[in-house]
Parts: sequence; structure tokens; C-alpha cells
Amino acid sequence: MGKSAVIVGGGIGGLAAAVGLRRIGWEVTVVERAPVLDDVGAGISLAANGLRALDELGVGKAVRQASRAQYSGGTRTPEGGWLARMDGAALEKAVGTPIMGIPRATLHRLLREALPAGTLLLGSAAGPVRQAGPGAVRVGCGETILDADLVVAADGVGSKIRDHLFPAHPGPVYSGSTVLRAITEQAVALRTDFELTWGHGTEFGHIAFPDGRAEWHAVLSLPAGTRFTDPLAELRRRFHDWHAPIPALLDATRPDAVLHHDINELRTPLPSYAVGRIALLGDAAHAMTPNLGQGACQALEDAVTLAAALTTEPTVEAALTRYDTERRPRSQAVARAARQAGRMGQQLTHPLPVALRNTAMRMTPSRTAIRMILRHHAWTPPHLN
Ligand SMILES: Cc1cc2nc3c(=O)[nH]c(=O)nc-3n(C[C@H](O)[C@H](O)[C@H](O)COP(=O)(O)OP(=O)(O)OC[C@H]3O[C@@H](n4cnc5c(N)ncnc54)[C@H](O)[C@@H]3O)c2cc1C
Repeated sequence: MGKSAVIVGGGIGGLAAAVGLRRIGWEVTVVERAPVLDDVGAGISLAANGLRALDELGVGKAVRQASRAQYSGGTRTPEGGWLARMDGAALEKAVGTPIMGIPRATLHRLLREALPAGTLLLGSAAGPVRQAGPGAVRVGCGETILDADLVVAADGVGSKIRDHLFPAHPGPVYSGSTVLRAITEQAVALRTDFELTWGHGTEFGHIAFPDGRAEWHAVLSLPAGTRFTDPLAELRRRFHDWHAPIPALLDATRPDAVLHHDINELRTPLPSYAVGRIALLGDAAHAMTPNLGQGACQALEDAVTLAAALTTEPTVEAALTRYDTERRPRSQAVARAARQAGRMGQQLTHPLPVALRNTAMRMTPSRTAIRMILRHHAWTPPHLN
């Protein structure tokens, strides 16, 4: 069994894979094209499956300590009426933990700190991956050539390695929604840990952090590439008459803190997550819409499953076959469910279907909602030792 891996991409997926491979005794290099880590996003929700994966990677405790549990909140209308209440305590009883909210940069830092210095090479853009004789793969990063027993392509939704391995695959497509988000500069008086509010083709949500600040996001159905000269002013205009605390969250935000990205997804599922000694992981393998808050959680599941397969199978190729068999059906099912959740949620625009959906949501008992959530959150990780 080989012992060295090059991981392309230092996002949550790539770093988690690096921590997993280190835990099973592999030498790991992570190459990340960004020269500095200054834009690692706003906030993130971690469900039980992601938290269990983090436990297996040895960082679950530190992540929980830096997170805020989402016990209260739910889904609302723009006027403030509740469509569904979140019962974090019931979720905790059912699956062992409520959902946890954490600044993305903190999660990223905690994963980085679990790696020895020098593992992550910033400013290193990987080129194509090639076979380098029997039992080795080669990645070129500018002048540097890296040979390894395994390459993990964790290079995100726009993965060039995926394009190279699957030239006939259509690649990512625009989901129809664009997202603006930020973390507030100061603490905001919030009554809930987590909320989503659905208008017609529009969503506003927040996740509270332990220090009282919060991340908020606004999702809009707009043509791809739409940009605003003053994004915060545009959001104030669109959301000024939505319920509290939405205007207050926008007021507590610095204009230059607002990030704006189009949401792209891998709508055509990949036929495999493994080719020879190359494994695809995270968004590179299964970029999904964020409607279930599961993209990073699935990447964390990938990382643990990959490391576990490498300890149990006799060859790297056999381990990657197992990784593909275990990960593809589940992650692709979650991606389908996320797309469906978006269609029934933020992307619904016509008043009649919106009214029907809202009525159905108000009538759904919370135990049914918990059962639906558990379909994705209930996951038992393989052990890494
Ligand atoms: C608005 C929004 C909200 C979300 N909320 C949640 C949530 O609450 N919970 C959740 O679980 N998920 C959430 N997600 C999904 C989650 O953010 C992603 O699934 C996850 O971050 C993917 O991680 P990754 O490491 O696979 O990819 P990325 O984070 O995209 O990382 C890929 C990395 O590869 C690098 N790279 C690319 N090409 C190269 C190259 N050639 N050489 C070297 N480096 C390269 C990139 O610079 C990048 O750093 C959300 C997503 C969005 C858009």
C-alpha cells in the first residue's frame, strides 16, 4: 500500500482529506492555488453527519467549542409568520446533536491546525495529473513536479482535474440562483439561532455565532452573472420591509464584507469518483446547491470514507473502487434532494404554488420534519483506527 498523497485544493474537502490521510499514516501535500486565504466565505452549518466525520478526524471537539448550537429558529414568511419551527432539542435527541453554526474561516483554521506545518502549499496551482509509471501519479505545479501514490482532486466545483478525467461530462451548470452573504461586523440582538425566510424567488437566512455576530445570506433568482454596483444598498432596497432582524442584520454589515457568488452545481452526476489512483472529493465530485446545508458535510464524509478505505483495502486502486461505491450513491442522492429543496423553497415564485407549499409546511408535524432531516443527517462514519 502506498504512503504518499498529493491533494489538489485546500478548501474544507481537501484539508479534511489531508487530516484523514495523516491519521492513517500517509505523507500528505496539499497544493492550493490561492496565494493567501483571505476569502474563505461567511458561515456554515454542520449537521450530525459532518460533525461525526470531524470527530473521526480528531477535530470534532474543537469545532463544537467554536460553534453555536442551533436550538431555535425555523422557516418564516417575509411578514414574519412561521412556516415551520426548528426543534433543535428534538433533533439532538434523535441524532445526538443539534446542527452547529460556525464561521467558515474558523472551521478552515481548525482543519489547518490539525496538519503539520508545511503540508499546505499556498500559491501552487496544479496542472494536469498524469500516470508516472506503475503505481504512481504525477502532478505538475509550475516548476515543481510532485509524484505520489494517490492524488485527491478536491479542486472544487470548477475542477479542471474532473474535466480532464471526464471530457464528455457537461460540467457544472448555473442553478438559477445567486447568493450574497456576509458576517456582521458586530453582535446583533437575535431571538433565534437560525432562520430562513422565503419570499417569491427570494430567500434570506441567518446563522448565529457564539460571539453574537451572525452570518446572513440572501439568495435571489436572477440571470447568471448579475452584479450590483452597491450590493448592500441593493439588499436594503429589496429587504427593507421584511421582518426583524433582517434589516438589522444588513445594518450591522460593512459594505465591503458582502460576498456575491452564482450558485453552480454538478447537475449531471459523475459516472465515477475514482480513476486509477485519482479520487475526486467534495464539490469536485458532487457540487450541490446549498439548500440542505450539506455540501461541506458530504465532503467531510468523503474524507473519512476515503481514509478508511485506504486502511482496509490491499491496493490504492481497490480502496478507490470502494470509496466510489460507498460515496457516489449517497452524495448524489443528497445532491438531488438539495436541488429539489431549492425548487420547493427559494426558487418557487408563482403565488399559487407558494401558497400551497406554505400551507403544507404549516400543517407538517415537527416529528415528520425531523424524520425528513434524519434521512441526510443520520450517517455512521467508518473508523480510522
Ligand atoms: C451559499 C452557500 C452556503 C453553503 N452552506 C453550507 C452549509 O451550511 N453547510 C454545508 O455543509 N455546506 C454548505 N455549502 C457548501 C460548501 O461550501 C461546499 O460544498 C464546500 O465548501 C466544498 O468544499 P471543497 O473543498 O470541495 O471545495 P472548495 O471550497 O471550492 O475548495 C476548492 C479549492 O481548490 C482550489 N483549487 C482549484 N483549482 C486548483 C488548482 N488547479 N490547483 C490548486 N488549487 C486549486 C481552490 O482555490 C479552492 O480553494 C454552502 C455553499 C454555498 C455556495
